[in-house]
Amino acid sequence: MKKFLRSFYVKLSAVFLVLLLLMGAVQVWISIRAARDFQVAADQTLNLELAASIASEFEPSLRDSIDMAAIEHMIHYMMVINPKIEIYLLDGAGKILAFFAGPEKKLQTQSVDLEPVRSFIEGTRPFPILGDDPRHTGRKKIFSAAPLRIGKQTNGYLYVVAESEQYDAAASALRQSYIGQTVVKGILISIVVTGILGLILFGVTTRRLHRITKVVQDFEKGKLNERIPVTRQDEISYLAASFNKLADTIVANMDELRKTDQLRRELVANVSHDLRNPLASIKGYLETIQLKDEQLNPRERQKYIDAALQVSGMLENLIEQLFQLSRLDAEQIELQPEPFSLADLLQDVFMKFTPLAEKKGVHLSASLPKQLPQTYADIGLIERVLSNLLDNALRYTPSGGKISVEIVHVGNRVSIKVSDTGQGIKQEELPLIFDRFYRVEKSRSRTTGGAGLGLAIAQKILELHQSSISVESQLKVGTSFSFQLNTWPKTAYS
Ligand code: ADP
Repeated sequence: MKKFLRSFYVKLSAVFLVLLLLMGAVQVWISIRAARDFQVAADQTLNLELAASIASEFEPSLRDSIDMAAIEHMIHYMMVINPKIEIYLLDGAGKILAFFAGPEKKLQTQSVDLEPVRSFIEGTRPFPILGDDPRHTGRKKIFSAAPLRIGKQTNGYLYVVAESEQYDAAASALRQSYIGQTVVKGILISIVVTGILGLILFGVTTRRLHRITKVVQDFEKGKLNERIPVTRQDEISYLAASFNKLADTIVANMDELRKTDQLRRELVANVSHDLRNPLASIKGYLETIQLKDEQLNPRERQKYIDAALQVSGMLENLIEQLFQLSRLDAEQIELQPEPFSLADLLQDVFMKFTPLAEKKGVHLSASLPKQLPQTYADIGLIERVLSNLLDNALRYTPSGGKISVEIVHVGNRVSIKVSDTGQGIKQEELPLIFDRFYRVEKSRSRTTGGAGLGLAIAQKILELHQSSISVESQLKVGTSFSFQLNTWPKTAYS
């Protein structure tokens, strides 16, 4: 119950009902005023000629001086016909010279404001025009008035306050009036109908919100496939659609995290494996030297030392690759792009690989345009990419094969393609070779092949350059890797 009272529905309904009642009250008030003004204006119109006709009766008795006896006689006669009128004789300044308002009635003020009186006589304002009530200071009443000559010189007024109770009791007048009652009834009916419809509407709206809350709670409890049906196009539906989108993102992120976690486990397993094997070999070589110390001739001893050195070199290389990849992953390596000659860089890399290629009987060649604009990239990292690709090409191309690097300039980009005539890669393996630690030949000794990190590093470096690497390969025909870089000065990295 407490929860219900604190609910959005109850709050919304309460505010709505209060507003509705307020509006109703304002409407009733306006109607009462309008009815009252209408009635009062009608009364005043009816009494328009009243003061003028009384004045014409009084005129003879006032011509020379005020003949009270004659006037009282007339008053008596008029009061019999209409007991509700109060008659005042005013001088030119509004001062009350005489009044006739029944025996028990006393005056509270001795003068009347003439501004409304003049407006009445001249017809300069619409009805109702309210004037002073000499019997109640501060109270205004409808009246009838007419100019009146009193004595020889004085220009005065006849001021008649008529039907005074009606104005004061306007609300009761409304109660008695048929139109007033109908209006109030109409307002009450519309308040009740609007109230009921409003409550139903709020009920429907908040029920939709309840449904959203239920799905959100279910999602929180682990029902990750729960979604809110979106059927309309309003704010609540937008809210529902936004939640659905958020839920999709959360689920996708969770999948991603799960995958990353899985990858991390594999990485740790791979790293331990890759470190354990060469370390075991080195240990084996050293133990052999130690055990057979006396029996070994210098040539044999040198052979074991060389083997241990070769394996430790590979280990060093592996650790260096791992270190670089982790720095790239953690985005610790900040790109330091600069304009440089790609032709010069390629020449340097070729110089490094030529001895090995000659030893293996593989032909290295390059093809590049005569006019090549400067390339804008991190020269150290691009050297790494080229080295990794050439290293792979040499490793997987048998003696007699060819490796070629082709550079093409297109618009504000240069395209670099490293091709070989090696063993090639199966189509189904192609999407996997950029994964870290992925090797096509799993059984291959890790001391002879790479660790499966070279392409992952190259891809990461190119991602940093807002570029990507692609591969084409045919089994037993060859493989080619391509990537693009920006030229200088037309483009720069954001
Ligand atoms: P690795 O250090 O083992 O070469 P990479 O990440 O550089 O690791 O390459 C992943 C795998 O892709 C390699 O094990 C190899 O099977 C395959 N690969 C890479 N380059 C070539 C190539 N030029 N020719 C044939 N296979 C290749």
